[in-house]
Amino acid sequence: MNDITRVVVLGTGVLGSQIAFQTAFRGFPVVAYDIDEKALAAAKERFEGLAATYRAEVDGAADGKAEEALARLSLSSDLADAVKDADLVIEAIPEVLEIKRATFEKLAAAAPARTIFATNSSTLLPSDIAPFTGRPDRFLALHFANRVWTFNTAEVMGTADTDPAVFEAVAAFAERIGMVPIRIHKEKAGYVLNSLLVPFLNAGLALAAGGYAEPEDVDKTWRIGTGAPMGPFQIYDVIGLTTPYNILVHGSESDQRLAAWLKENYIDQGKLGVATGEGFYRYG
Ligand code: NAD
Repeated sequence: MNDITRVVVLGTGVLGSQIAFQTAFRGFPVVAYDIDEKALAAAKERFEGLAATYRAEVDGAADGKAEEALARLSLSSDLADAVKDADLVIEAIPEVLEIKRATFEKLAAAAPARTIFATNSSTLLPSDIAPFTGRPDRFLALHFANRVWTFNTAEVMGTADTDPAVFEAVAAFAERIGMVPIRIHKEKAGYVLNSLLVPFLNAGLALAAGGYAEPEDVDKTWRIGTGAPMGPFQIYDVIGLTTPYNILVHGSESDQRLAAWLKENYIDQGKLGVATGEGFYRYG
């Protein structure tokens, strides 16, 4: 009953396209759903781009496997048609509860009763969404990290209502697509990774914004002192400064001071991280 073969990914943005491609790369047929033809045209380009990245970075991808993955992917802007035979639907649409609610309500009506639903939401808890799914026992979070082919954790987190057999089926599926499943026993905002990472990044920022040490020296200390490959500011540059800024600016008073420092010294100067060629460091 919980065999997962046919997968649908909702949303073909940054993460949805990666989840869909990785799943197809590991041999599963995948339907990638997005709202309209324009979004699907963008998805097609993203998939071609991912194929090129996989060819360069993933073992075996250059021997035709990236093309095979592309062939297993189909695109749809018809939700009911996309999910009619789905075993698992993974949602990766914008991080806006109202959009998720409307989509899960439509999905609940369209998908077979046996279909498992998963959300990739980073900041919402699955229990925020479960009431709209029509099947709280077959719903949970399956949370990927950006660049899924390299940073291959898949955090699996249910609600009190998630059927343990569904939880295990999704963890096993995550493993079959090349992820390392991380089983989280009860709901936790930030899962495991962000529960560790966010306070760590903020602590680094507070040292630099408070004038205690230069970002490069904070990073150097962390690298030499722990053997870790990257310090907090190198990580900020990879993530991009906009998302952390948006989170901090809505936080406590001290978070808001950190946000103001980031804005004045980096964001207002277009230094947004690796993607713009400069953040705390210069690239290219
Ligand atoms: P994104 O903005 O890159 O992509 C969102 C996609 O959803 C777009 O293709 C958009 O056309 C589509 N969309 C918009 N409305 C839709 C609807 N009603 N139905 C279906 N598709 C719709 O977003 P993203 O960064 O890929 O994030 C998606 C989800 O993944 C969010 O919940 C986010 O918290 C989570 N996430 C993101 C990251 C990350 O690093 N970007 C990491 C882990 C988890």
